[in-house]
Amino acid sequence: MKILNFIGGEYSGARSGKFLNNTNPATGEAMGELPDSDAVDVVMAIQAAHRAAEKWAKTPSAERSRLLNLIADRIEQRADEFAKLEALDVGKPKWLAREVDVPRAILNFRFFAAKILTEETGGFDSDGALVQYSLRQPVGVCGLISPWNLPLYLLTWKLAPCLAMGNAAVCKPSELTPLTAHLLSEIVSDILPPGVCNIVYGRGETAGAALVQHPGVPLISFTGGTDTGIKITQSSAPQLKKLSLELGGKNANIVCKDADLSAAVKGSIRAAFLNSGQICLCGSRLYVQEDIYDSFMKEFREQTAALKIGDPMADDTFIGPLVNGQQREKSLAAIQQATREGAKVTVGGRVPETLPQQLRGGFYLEPTVIEDLDHCSDLWANEIFGPIVTVQTFKLPQDAIKWANTSTYGLSASVWTRDVSRAHKMAREIQAGTVWVNTWAKRDPRVPFGGVKHSGIGREGGDHSLDFYSELKTVCLAT
Ligand code: NAD
Repeated sequence: MKILNFIGGEYSGARSGKFLNNTNPATGEAMGELPDSDAVDVVMAIQAAHRAAEKWAKTPSAERSRLLNLIADRIEQRADEFAKLEALDVGKPKWLAREVDVPRAILNFRFFAAKILTEETGGFDSDGALVQYSLRQPVGVCGLISPWNLPLYLLTWKLAPCLAMGNAAVCKPSELTPLTAHLLSEIVSDILPPGVCNIVYGRGETAGAALVQHPGVPLISFTGGTDTGIKITQSSAPQLKKLSLELGGKNANIVCKDADLSAAVKGSIRAAFLNSGQICLCGSRLYVQEDIYDSFMKEFREQTAALKIGDPMADDTFIGPLVNGQQREKSLAAIQQATREGAKVTVGGRVPETLPQQLRGGFYLEPTVIEDLDHCSDLWANEIFGPIVTVQTFKLPQDAIKWANTSTYGLSASVWTRDVSRAHKMAREIQAGTVWVNTWAKRDPRVPFGGVKHSGIGREGGDHSLDFYSELKTVCLAT
């Protein structure tokens, strides 16, 4: 499939005529092309957005809400197509895209379509001398940069509130996974006025960087790696742009001795290996209280070894391929390092050898459990982003909190316990944007979402998204 940029309601290739290959991660074969856009294409998209921005900002919120709901309806009508494309592009199981990514994209539009209809800003009477009130106004043209692991979910998480608040958008999806953004552009092209939503494909260092540096884009919402987030902060700083950074994670998953073991094993496996461990929220550092280590790990190892590796389109596949060869190399290098450092690989650790012929060129890796890793290993610190979990015991809950907080990241953590007061205490003391208790990765769109430390700056979700995608102005009248 040949993807084209979507600028001002029209489809076009990059002005340079260059394209990038899009590879199917399950086979390693080329399956299409996408524009290798540069600053020229990005500027065209920004100009198109500026032409559309004023009228869109003045469109009544009820009408914006209606159009966003229409987008949600169309995604719902084509849900299976979206799930298939997401599976093809990312390598995630299609059932997962159908159960999580696509419904979430629909919810993102419906949620913000509803939210703007009930939005309130405050009014203040200062003893009869002054009347003050707030206006929430659009920021203008917003740059939305998204990663490859949850392409549709995260693009719509940004786009829906951005448009709802009356802004125009220039989206820059990951160059590795353009397919669902393209399908979304087909839907949007029928519903939104030209230029309100533009999508430019290309590499981060060219297309992404041009968007970040352009003075006509006062807001950047970025989800991706911490190193990229730092670059974006540096390059946007001279223009003091509004920034939201959702970055990497190395999340602790803590199993206490009083946990429901069956639920904790099941939840910890999902947390470690869903989407082949390529979710920023993955519980890649597993801490198990020493009293239950043997019984918990026996079940954990057995169930991990039984996870079905296979074709992302098959209903019984749990582990699809990694997104590309680079991600697999990074994971294999981490496994080799762990072995060199004296750790034990107790499950997996290899490229699977029994896959059907058509998947042999895919970027597959067995789900891998690493135990007895030295405390000083930098594998505890660095995000691997593959189907790998490192496991360690702890004696007391405060020890687990200490280990959890040693990370420079602070995106999320999970705690498995039946003791409610312990759960509250641990949740309070763990340094993370989100702490789950007896669950993982569940999130209502109303709650604040974001990271602390190197996992990001800012919060999105609910009112936080409305705040980020708007400027609050105070009007003060003398009476
Ligand atoms: P990445 O940082 O390489 O790329 C993300 C996006 O940024 C892509 O669209 C890319 O083209 C673009 N980009 C790259 N360099 C750029 C630059 N200099 N200027 C502007 N744009 C640039 O990340 P990735 O490999 O696509 O995604 C994986 C990372 O994303 C992981 O670290 C993961 O933890 C993180 N992530 C975080 C969250 C969260 O909510 N915190 C969610 C999903 C993924």
